[in-house]
Amino acid sequence: MTISLAQTGNFIGGEFRPAESGATDDVLDPSTGDVLATVASSGAADVDAAVATARAAFETWSETTPRERFERITALADAIEADLDGLKALESANVGKPVSIIDFEFDLTVDNFRFFAAAARFMEGRAAGEYLEDHTSFVRRDPLGVVASIAPWNYPLNMATWKVGPALATGNTVVLKPSELTPLTAIRLAELAADILPPGVLNVVLGQGESAGAALVAHPDVAMVSVTGDVSTGKLIARNAAETLKRVHLELGGKAPVIVFDDADPAAVVECLTEMSYYNSGQDCTAPCRVVAGPKVFDDVVSGLTSSVGSLRWGDPSDPDVAVGPVISAEQQAKVAGMVDRAVAAGAEVTTGGRVGDRSGFFYEPSVVVNPAQDSEIVQREVFGPVVTVQRFDDESQALAWANGVDYGLASSVWTNDVGRALRMAKRLQFGTVWVNDHIPIVSEMPHGGYKQSGYGKDMSVYALEHYTEIKHVMIKL
Ligand code: NAD
Repeated sequence: MTISLAQTGNFIGGEFRPAESGATDDVLDPSTGDVLATVASSGAADVDAAVATARAAFETWSETTPRERFERITALADAIEADLDGLKALESANVGKPVSIIDFEFDLTVDNFRFFAAAARFMEGRAAGEYLEDHTSFVRRDPLGVVASIAPWNYPLNMATWKVGPALATGNTVVLKPSELTPLTAIRLAELAADILPPGVLNVVLGQGESAGAALVAHPDVAMVSVTGDVSTGKLIARNAAETLKRVHLELGGKAPVIVFDDADPAAVVECLTEMSYYNSGQDCTAPCRVVAGPKVFDDVVSGLTSSVGSLRWGDPSDPDVAVGPVISAEQQAKVAGMVDRAVAAGAEVTTGGRVGDRSGFFYEPSVVVNPAQDSEIVQREVFGPVVTVQRFDDESQALAWANGVDYGLASSVWTNDVGRALRMAKRLQFGTVWVNDHIPIVSEMPHGGYKQSGYGKDMSVYALEHYTEIKHVMIKL
């Protein structure tokens, strides 16, 4: 199927236009592999135009009051809410998200925009005062300028919201580059914003990472780059941004451990993981994908997961009874299949799934892989597919060592009825989020972000707003 789009171009200075070179990219439907749409593919000239208009718009947008920005951004949230059916249809077609699971991230998107708009009215700082005799000091929080927001394909509109929302709310202007694989809801966001935000405040440049993305990162008039993506992309962007010493905000990959102690309820673990590990086909940076279970509970977790994951319905995302759709691309499908095959060759056991889906489109069966070694690829590297590994630990210190024993540090969960152990683990786990007896829930008010190679800078919460501002000390001699 192709989708009929009113706009397929870049959104620069309040207007849509094709790439200056005339280049385009095809956008695929992952559930069939067919071309869904064809959109602009930008280069340095398009990025120059977008940054110039964003820089000009910064002069007036940065002078607006928090109240004015609140009113515009909440109007944008209202417009998104009024267009939810259309936005969900675009995202479902472009990412292959089952219609049965799509509501949550759109509800969050609307709430995120409303939170950022409101929270920017309450920025905090140290009290003004005389810290030196005869001098009054106070602290300002100033916007940075033009922010480049570079988004991934797993939650295209929601991840864009986490970057665009705090940037705009604190008085910056934005050039958003969505993933080349999933640009459709960013185009729709621009259409909605065209009637609400002044021209140039939000710009959208479509195209590949190595061309449009790299030009944004290198641009001397971009003050900050905020990217959500793979660890290798984050490292490359940080290196390239170092040339102009621009601020970098990195939300990168994850490999979330699920630590199940013997006193936990295995049925609750299985119920949570059957839903959350395979949600969005496991293409979630916080997905509970790496179970480490105690010796007494291990067998119950494996048998429960094997049976409930084996009965998950996967297939056509438009079927309301389907829980798991395709992965995003043929490349991702091959990556998932290769990692599971190599895990089996190294001695792990697949208890359900372990196969590419037997239909056209980029499907992989929901899978459980048991007893991989701690140092194996499938434990150490992000799969980003519908695959969960289960390992058996001997005691608490081994559970902690295995949980922390990866390069990533984004999210984790501990399952136990022992409050002391839960608090001990929460302190020692090197992850930006620790859930106790749950895994995945997120809220606008609380920070989301990584330790270690999962990156730095927090999304959501007041901490995100702070990262999009610069602290200035003003000292007055009395
Ligand atoms: P990706 O790294 O391939 O691409 C992310 C974005 O970076 C895309 O827009 C891409 O075009 C752009 N890009 C690529 N190379 C670039 C370059 N040289 N310069 C500038 N931009 C460039 O990531 P993806 O495959 O789209 O997304 C999946 C990854 O995102 C996973 O690793 C996942 O864990 C991670 N992720 C992290 C979080 C988080 O909050 N930490 C959230 C969602 C996804």
